[in-house]
Amino acid sequence: MINNTLKPKYRGIPQWFKIPEYKLTAEYFIKTLPLPDRVIIPLHQHIGPPSYPVVKIGDKVLTGQKIGDSDEFRGVPVHATVSGKVVDIISFTDVAHNKEQQAIVIESDGKDEWIDMQTIDDLESLSNEQIISKIRDAGVVGMGGAIYPAHLKLTLPKSGRLETVILNGCECEPYVTADYRVMLEYGEKVISGLKIITKLISPDNIFIAIEDNKPDAIAHLTTILEKSNLNSKVKMVPIKLKYPVGARELLVKALLSKEVPLEGRCRDIGVLVHNVSTAKAIHESVIEGRPLVEQVITVSGGVKNPQNLLVRVGTPVKNIIDYCGGITDEANQVVLGGPMMGSAVPDTETPLTRGTRCLLLNNNQIRNEVDCIHCGRCIDACSMRLNPSLLAKYSKAGRYDDCGEAYIDACIECGVCTYVCPASIPITQYIKSAKQQLSLME
Ligand code: SF4
Ligand code: SF4
Repeated sequence: MINNTLKPKYRGIPQWFKIPEYKLTAEYFIKTLPLPDRVIIPLHQHIGPPSYPVVKIGDKVLTGQKIGDSDEFRGVPVHATVSGKVVDIISFTDVAHNKEQQAIVIESDGKDEWIDMQTIDDLESLSNEQIISKIRDAGVVGMGGAIYPAHLKLTLPKSGRLETVILNGCECEPYVTADYRVMLEYGEKVISGLKIITKLISPDNIFIAIEDNKPDAIAHLTTILEKSNLNSKVKMVPIKLKYPVGARELLVKALLSKEVPLEGRCRDIGVLVHNVSTAKAIHESVIEGRPLVEQVITVSGGVKNPQNLLVRVGTPVKNIIDYCGGITDEANQVVLGGPMMGSAVPDTETPLTRGTRCLLLNNNQIRNEVDCIHCGRCIDACSMRLNPSLLAKYSKAGRYDDCGEAYIDACIECGVCTYVCPASIPITQYIKSAKQQLSLME
């Protein structure tokens, strides 16, 4: 039997929020978006060095073929997401990840002809090095939005080990139901991905954390686990619904009562957290030999037919909105990501990138930013114990080094400071912008 009784514990701060959920699409099965005529595939869809193009204009490509690569182990390759012809290599402003980069434009031939994919029947026939290599070659990154290369997280630290693995099925951002549907509709792949993670890490403890308002997802994964050889090792932990518990540092705190150091990462305290959709992608890369060319997203808010869709990476936002019946009169903003953590995009030609969980048509009540009134609400609200007002002030003044001194890297971009600010200061946007400037200075 799965141990269902372990209760999460919390220590000290953080502040948790009860935010209206608006999970309009929770009961909608995942549909597949028809292939776009054209995809725009950015070469830097991960944390780490950007890839460089390995194709040129005029080349014919197959779906899943490598079109960008990196010579560094920290880098991640990029793949064609349709078959067709490379028609352009452009400079592209990636608003969702706050950076300028190159993108490869492919015109689809409508055939969706794939590369040969090498499937594996027996996981035990692969060494850990071969598994890591397959995950890297497939371009798997953190699908919960972190876009950190999965093969790096799964490579054990030289000294020490990772004692605990947490499979993160918490989806606390309003509107988003993509991971929920993935757990219900791709549960076998999720658990297979967890098995692969477990083989690589050999942890002492394995948890699956899912919010307690998703009993059907908990029951479904529990049933799959009971048929697997992981059953006795995994603790299924229902997590009390609150925002932003899906953030890995806070999930670790809620589940294990352990603090991730302000300047560190979960692995510094022996914990590995992977999102359920990343586990699915790990299964597909290792067992099916399938590169990461598509992902499940939620399309919601001011769109005529909200949906959960399986979408090819690089699909322009416009294709997705059109498929969902277009925008309603109330919507005035297109956001990639949820309302708390997402970023508004300037136009609907913007492509979907790896790790984006939601396309939200938002009704943004335009409120003018006024001067900080030093109420301290953002400081009280910040779960990472930062001083958001100070970070915003430094960012506005271009004092990026001071942002670094004020631990800007520890910000999880949860959006809570912006949410509570009575002066309508877009604090999180200022923080994202400063992080971008700091990354350019590295
Ligand atoms: S966005 Fe960053 S600074 Fe603002 S509340 Fe969240 S963690 Fe704190
Ligand atoms: S919540 Fe807004 S107004 Fe209040 S201290 Fe923070 S930045 Fe200033």
